Amino acid sequence: MGKRWNHYVCKVCGGITVARHDDEGVTPFVIACRAKDERTARTVIRNRCQGFAKSVFFMCSQADDQQPHVIFYRPAPHEAVKAINKMPRRVRTDMLEHYERGGSLLREVR
Ligand SMILES: [Zn+2]
Repeated sequence: MGKRWNHYVCKVCGGITVARHDDEGVTPFVIACRAKDERTARTVIRNRCQGFAKSVFFMCSQADDQQPHVIFYRPAPHEAVKAINKMPRRVRTDMLEHYERGGSLLREVR
C-alpha cells in the first residue's frame, strides 16, 4: 500500500496541517496545528499557531505532490524507543503505550 494523506483543520487559524502517512498505524484525531509554521529552525516555534487541528479522516486530496508538515511512520521497535527517548519526559510513557498498541509516531518536516 502506498502513502496516504490526511489533512488536519485548525479552528483557531483556519489553516491546514498536511500529514503524510508512510505506514499503516493508529494516528490521532487531533494534533497541534503546524499550518503557519515558517519551516525554518529559528522561527518554527515562535510563529507556531497555538491551536489544535482536527482530522478530516482522509477525506482530502491524495495527490503525491503535497508538501507535508508532519509524517506518521511506524519504525522498528528499537528505532521507536530511540525516537520516544528524544521526546519530552512527560509524554514518553504514553507514546510508548501508543506505539505498542500499533500507533504511528509523528515526525515534523522542517
Ligand atoms: Zn492553527
